[in-house]
Amino acid sequence: MSKKKVLVTGGTGFIGSHTAAVLLDQGCDAVIFDNLSNSKIGVVDRIRRIAARRPDFAMGDIRDKAALSALFRAHDFDAVIHFAGLKAVGESVAKPLPYYENNITGSLALYEAMGNAGVRTLIFSSSATVYGPVNHVPYLEGMPLSATNPYGWTKLMNEQILRDLCAADPSWSVALLRYFNPGGAHRSGLIGEDPNGIPNNLLPYAAKVAAGELERIHIFGDDYDTPDGTGVRDYIHVMDLARGHALALDWLAAKRRGAGAGSGATAINLGTGKGTSVREIIAAFEAACGKTLPAVVGPRRPGDLAATYADAGLARELLGFETEYGIEDICADIWKWQQYAAENGI
Ligand code: NAD
Ligand code: UDP
Repeated sequence: MSKKKVLVTGGTGFIGSHTAAVLLDQGCDAVIFDNLSNSKIGVVDRIRRIAARRPDFAMGDIRDKAALSALFRAHDFDAVIHFAGLKAVGESVAKPLPYYENNITGSLALYEAMGNAGVRTLIFSSSATVYGPVNHVPYLEGMPLSATNPYGWTKLMNEQILRDLCAADPSWSVALLRYFNPGGAHRSGLIGEDPNGIPNNLLPYAAKVAAGELERIHIFGDDYDTPDGTGVRDYIHVMDLARGHALALDWLAAKRRGAGAGSGATAINLGTGKGTSVREIIAAFEAACGKTLPAVVGPRRPGDLAATYADAGLARELLGFETEYGIEDICADIWKWQQYAAENGI
């Protein structure tokens, strides 16, 4: 990767921290902008220990226009990776306004500040949730999109806003990266997912059960039309995901050079293309931690689909992206991080 200066909004969070570490490792400068609403300042120093270089950190909120313009005045960015936002589906149903305010109003302020500063290369964190409930797997980028909750709408709306922006001003180059189910942690065990309160997602929940902090895993339904009856998802290691961002930055830069202008907005799935069931995840986690994890089957979780996984062909074709890690690595690395976090009071 050619040396770039990259603004990483939400860069002390789960995916942002791993991506900042990969960028620093590849010789880029990373400036993190985060309001620490769902992450801790200590992450910055642990990124430095991994990457042997410190990311710059600016505490701030993407809804704060003055803070954004000061940030863009202070740095000459080549590109922005926009992770900042709220992400809990259930909470977005209960409290839609903060979700629209952070994820839409905040993103609009960021895009405006980028435009004012002449920085028009962007990676947006989208999600497989934009495929909605109607498509058949594997999900292809050209499928019709829909949403079933406010969080999903904020992803869909951001995608639309960015497509409209690219149509109006062809100097923008945007990648809409649609993540499937991120998991794992940095191999060092120094950074990983650090959710507030009781986790909603299967992998961090299993980690807390393995650590003895929660009693048992609740399997949300075993009567789906899947090989073992439990829900199937496409789990992608966060380090693979982080590397996908670095490849996407290179791809956007190469396209811009080739076209002599921006390259529009392109949606790309980041997944493995492979589905794994809840029971398979539990078995992999048991192998990783060497314990039996108590699990009970309960009712389906409202809104859950039987199976979601990516068609990973476009990422391979455009970015040369192949995943390196499987669910064994994902579970082993989460377990290492879980133990480090428990020992260090994180
Ligand atoms: P995360 O919560 O760990 O990280 C998000 C970071 O953004 C946090 O550090 C938080 O403090 C910060 N933030 C939130 N609102 C902010 C604001 N208004 N101003 C500045 N900073 C703010 O989440 P993550 O798992 O790393 O997800 C990163 C992005 O990827 C999010 O946009 C999320 O919607 C998207 N995504 C995540 C998943 C997943 O399962 N983790 C899947 C698909 C898409
Ligand atoms: N799941 C489960 N128990 C949990 C959390 C999740 O059985 O405590 C199942 C869920 O029904 C789905 C899979 O695990 O089939 C992944 O769910 P997660 O919430 O991690 O991701 P998402 O639903 O966003 O794909």
